[in-house]
Amino acid sequence: MIDYKVEDGVAVLSWNLPDRSMNVLNEGSLTAYAEALERAVADPAVTGIIVTSGKDSFLAGADLAMVKGAAFGAKDPAVLFERLGALQRLFRRQESCGKPVVAAINGTALGGGLELCLAAHYRIAADNPRAELGLPEVKVGLLPGGGGTQRLPRMIGLQPAMQAILKGTSFSPQDALGMKIVDEVVPAADLMARARAYLKGSPRSVQPWDERGFRIPGGAVQSPMGFQTFTAGNAVVVKETYGNYPAAKAIMSCFYEGLQVGIDAGLTIETRYFTALILDPVAGNMIRTLFVNMQDLNKGARRPTGEPKTEVRKLGILGAGMMGAGIAYVSSRAGIDCVLLDTAIEAAEKGKAYSAGLLDKAVSRGKATAEKREAQLARIHTTTDYADLAGCDLVIEAVFESREVKAGVTKQAEAVLGPDAVFASNTSTLPISSLAEASRDPGAFIGIHFFSPVDKMMLVEIIMGAETSSRALAVAMDYVQKIKKTPIVVNDRRGFYTSRCFGTYVSEGIEMLAEGIAPAIIDNVGRAAGMPRGPLEMNDDVALDLGWKIRCAARKDLGDAYELLPGEAIVEALVDRLGRYGRKNGKGFYEYPADAKKYLWPGLAELAPVRVSEADPALAKEIRTRLLYRQAIEAARCFAEGVVTDIRDADVGAILAWGFAPWTGGPLSLIDTVGVARFVAECDALAARFGQRYSPPQLLRDMAKAGRSFYQADTAQAAAAE
Ligand code: NAD
Repeated sequence: MIDYKVEDGVAVLSWNLPDRSMNVLNEGSLTAYAEALERAVADPAVTGIIVTSGKDSFLAGADLAMVKGAAFGAKDPAVLFERLGALQRLFRRQESCGKPVVAAINGTALGGGLELCLAAHYRIAADNPRAELGLPEVKVGLLPGGGGTQRLPRMIGLQPAMQAILKGTSFSPQDALGMKIVDEVVPAADLMARARAYLKGSPRSVQPWDERGFRIPGGAVQSPMGFQTFTAGNAVVVKETYGNYPAAKAIMSCFYEGLQVGIDAGLTIETRYFTALILDPVAGNMIRTLFVNMQDLNKGARRPTGEPKTEVRKLGILGAGMMGAGIAYVSSRAGIDCVLLDTAIEAAEKGKAYSAGLLDKAVSRGKATAEKREAQLARIHTTTDYADLAGCDLVIEAVFESREVKAGVTKQAEAVLGPDAVFASNTSTLPISSLAEASRDPGAFIGIHFFSPVDKMMLVEIIMGAETSSRALAVAMDYVQKIKKTPIVVNDRRGFYTSRCFGTYVSEGIEMLAEGIAPAIIDNVGRAAGMPRGPLEMNDDVALDLGWKIRCAARKDLGDAYELLPGEAIVEALVDRLGRYGRKNGKGFYEYPADAKKYLWPGLAELAPVRVSEADPALAKEIRTRLLYRQAIEAARCFAEGVVTDIRDADVGAILAWGFAPWTGGPLSLIDTVGVARFVAECDALAARFGQRYSPPQLLRDMAKAGRSFYQADTAQAAAAE
């Protein structure tokens, strides 16, 4: 695991985990590293130590599956504190072993990987622009628990360290040099020679913070600079997290408390906060959903087994509007030849120009070369001629949201496609099974639902029609994997999964408006709950008329079963009477002046008279609970009805598709964390006051009775692995 070699008085400890593409810190590798380090320290022939890696990257950090195991396994804080402290002791031993240690950072060093380097006496990075150096733990609800919150500020100063750790920023080697996170950047070929040369000169073997008279660069905690940093830092943390992410607060505490004492006490303080975070459900839920389960989905966990691997080489895209243009961009970027078809060649060209625009930006920022730009654009063939679709392995239609238009393009395309080709629709609202009726082969017809903007949104919702075959699913999954997006697989019901649940957030906001709650309170509480935006502003962003159209269609289809809510009158007036369609026409719940920030439309008060203009903490809490629970109940209903069949799809999909409060780990994780029985009781109470939409599905009642949770099997597995 750690290759060990002594040459010319220098011990080279090279991380090289077998059977893994990247080095990670786990129990095995840490033990092996500790042994190698002690061996070098004990060898009198060794005067200096180089730590490096035998792989392309240096060290990708702690194995989060291991951290997750710790999170779900150990319940006793004292045991956990002891276990987590082991990493601190190892790194502390490295920096105080008496021999100079150089980190020769040949590639990416993240999290614990970078912390190991911070505990070396000197850091040299290879000039590899693809390498990333950073402490991203906050992104999964953790803090850098291997000394990061203590060593980085002691090296580079309070303020830059605070920013880097709170944001989880990754730096290129050159940027890391500018930040003084590394001491040198050299050409990759010279890395080891330079590390040896350093050791042959007059290397340090004591850290600055272990020397008498050490001062934190830029100013200590109790200094005018420290005062400013903490005052502003605390304000930013509260503004950005609304107190939903305990990690951010814990990081601030580590800085504030740990940097007023010596390094050893500081490290202990860090471990104490790290232990508290591990025991808090937020980190465990975030790691499970945003790391472990998302990775499972990315690796094809939901791909039907038994279907041979497929590859889309030539893709047809029908409709070069906003979605078609985006699909062409992400597909051509992945090396797929795209035929981009529209009714007029100008429209198709306009769709291609979207890719050119994005690539121009990438070239000007140094993120792509001119050759790469040309090669990618050459893969997008614009046309109006269906014959050009011959030979496509997959066709995705993104034409107008009209059953007739979609049926027409399906027939025209299929007339020239080979027998194995799969046809997909990007519809956001029309049932896949009914669109498949226009197809020559409903088994080869599937929904591939992208989100806008396609190049930024990581999720793709794959929808199985009633007759969709597992081969069509395999083709869709292999395609989504190739374009490096995360797929979830759902069944064909009204609104599929994501639009249906998201719709409840928006409509609950409107119901609150109808109840007389001031719109500013509704949107502020939505944001404070951890949603990306309030329900009213999000409704404006997706377009009020679209939402209204969907409601009307549902009302028509469901007849008496449709639950008519008071808020509908408000939307009807906004859309039908006042032509307020949302951000797209500059008029919705908000006004959108061309050169100023949006503001709430004053006329709204006439449609929805305000009866509650101030929210005391109890009311704010109730609004928050309602906004989150309403979505969670719908997600549970989708699971109960078989719209989603895998809890990973439900939780990962919710966060990636509509930004469901990431701190919860997703709607089903939220229900588990609240406790199913308590959740059911709270929902029953809400249903009694606000209506049947809060009534939990029978599945949740059964689970509550049986004392079961959604992730029970998962926790059982983690416990068994302990
Ligand atoms: P758009 O209006 O921007 O683009 C539609 C394009 O289809 C236009 O360029 C139009 O000229 C072309 N078109 C129309 N009829 C055609 C035909 N017979 N043959 C070939 N081309 C034809 O629409 P959009 O926003 O890109 O949406 C397209 C589809 O994607 C819709 O089904 C929509 O529901 C779905 N969708 C949209 C979003 C979104 O956020 N906009 C998100 C997910 C899915």
